[in-house]
Amino acid sequence: MDQPHALLVSSPGLGHLIPILELGNRLSSVLNVHVTILAVTSGSSSSTETEAIRAATERKACEIMELPSVDIDNLVEPDATVITKIVAKMRAMKPAVRNAVKSMKRKPIVMIVDLFGTELMSLADDVDDLTAKYVYIASHAWLLALVVYLPVLDKMVKGEYVEIEEPLKIPGCKPVGPKELIESMLYRSDRQYIEFLRIGLEIPMSNGVLVNTWEELQENTLTALREGGELSRIMKVPVYPIGPIVRTKRPVKKPICILEWLDMQPERSVVYVCLGSGGTLSFEQTMELAWGLELSGQRFVWVLRKPASYLGVSSSDDEHVSASLPEGFLNRTSGVGLVVTEWAPQVDILSHGSIGGFLSHCGWGSVLESLTKGVPIVAWPLYAEQWMNATLLTEEIGVAIRTSELPSKRIIGREEVASLVRKIVAEEDEEGKKIRVKAEEVRVSSERAWTQGGSSHRSILEWAKRCSLVS
Ligand code: UDP
Repeated sequence: MDQPHALLVSSPGLGHLIPILELGNRLSSVLNVHVTILAVTSGSSSSTETEAIRAATERKACEIMELPSVDIDNLVEPDATVITKIVAKMRAMKPAVRNAVKSMKRKPIVMIVDLFGTELMSLADDVDDLTAKYVYIASHAWLLALVVYLPVLDKMVKGEYVEIEEPLKIPGCKPVGPKELIESMLYRSDRQYIEFLRIGLEIPMSNGVLVNTWEELQENTLTALREGGELSRIMKVPVYPIGPIVRTKRPVKKPICILEWLDMQPERSVVYVCLGSGGTLSFEQTMELAWGLELSGQRFVWVLRKPASYLGVSSSDDEHVSASLPEGFLNRTSGVGLVVTEWAPQVDILSHGSIGGFLSHCGWGSVLESLTKGVPIVAWPLYAEQWMNATLLTEEIGVAIRTSELPSKRIIGREEVASLVRKIVAEEDEEGKKIRVKAEEVRVSSERAWTQGGSSHRSILEWAKRCSLVS
């Protein structure tokens, strides 16, 4: 008999593609189902997306089809935000996704879209065997709570969110200061706010939501989403925490210089600095960060990027490195620090025993890669939902310290950088010790969630039974 078939659709951007590829991999290996991934990519020149698809194809766990990209230049304003562009692209790709599904010999019975693909769920009505549509939130439960609660906030809050003094109360979450709301929700007149409102209304119209967190990490929020209360009445459909789903360490094919350098460093002594697939800093901030790392006296690996657009990461070069660092920095820190400009093997780095801390922009992918290795975080949120992630990590979970102000709003000075880095990796600091202990506890709980009978393992089986992927 044919294996049941699940269809996954990813939205553009590496930060959206990787989670869907990983989910596909997990579904196929745990449930033994056939998985097809329709990848909507940024088109243009995103070699990192192509590389991610190639690597996933090599694993042979899923069938992956990259859909030819359509041009959206005439559909959005030239200065439209990243979110507006992603959503416009997903909308424009609807006919292509429909054709791809209709041409499949073996029809999928379940469709999973991500946060920006909720509009595609209506395709399920056109395909006979496709009986269930689910949304995958590759982020955490606070984000899910916020998005589905947004239509309520929209009626409740008068004026712009940025003008509110009081923290916003979202059921099941710690109060979030308006400054820490998702960046793209701050201005109501902006197209992306309207898109988020629509997504908030569409999620409860699915058959359920899979979310990349786990029961023990976010029990309060998950309970509020599921059991009684205002939030669960809005949510209406089941929520399945199935995380952490993250990329795993790759088998080493050839020596990698960063890993070789890490091999020579003492255990838990190095801070890894990387601001995700698209995060860049101003020239001034890059200088302060460099001075701060030097001043901290701690070992570091720094993935340094020249300015790049979010939907297509451009490569860096040596010229830009020397121009954006203080004079003599590389010489003075040689032996203590390593600056790299290429795409870093992040999972391998975070898995290395000499890594003691991660200065991160707090994209949820990076956060989970860090938490599953027990690496504490210096939160340096830049855009999207990262401000909220930083609040979640510092104030609820307790695995991070954060900058005194949002780095996107103010330059973080060298003294502060040095103090944050020392706190997270240096043995003697009390606050750092507490965070390191918590990070280790979270690592253990993340492992348990996916062992046989663990909370996420049970949750995925429950979901798969409900949508007839397994009997
Ligand atoms: N990443 C990587 N090497 C780099 C930069 C990023 O492997 O040099 C990976 C990282 O491991 C993560 C993803 O890119 O899996 C970034 O996703 P995340 O959700 O952290 O943030 P985003 O880039 O979407 O803001």
